[in-house]
Amino acid sequence: MTTDPFYNLHAWKTLREAVKRRDGYRCTVCGTAAIPLDVDHIQPFARRPDLALDPSNLRTICRTCHNRKRTRTRGKPKRRRNTRRW
Ligand SMILES: [Zn+2]
Repeated sequence: MTTDPFYNLHAWKTLREAVKRRDGYRCTVCGTAAIPLDVDHIQPFARRPDLALDPSNLRTICRTCHNRKRTRTRGKPKRRRNTRRW
């Protein structure tokens, strides 16, 4: 449920389809083609926004693998990096 305006760009939608087509509409992690597929940033957008639209930084990933990745990285305090000033 991201609200990042980047994901609304027409370019991103087009690119996402291109990446899925390139990867043969299969998850590049587990190889399934049976469930909804997302496109994942290998280098996270927050860290490398310059690679956000670079096909070499994108891979097709199934919902299951994507959720697993999100769960694994959830521990990182992403939003409050410099908020603790005291
Ligand atoms: Zn998968």
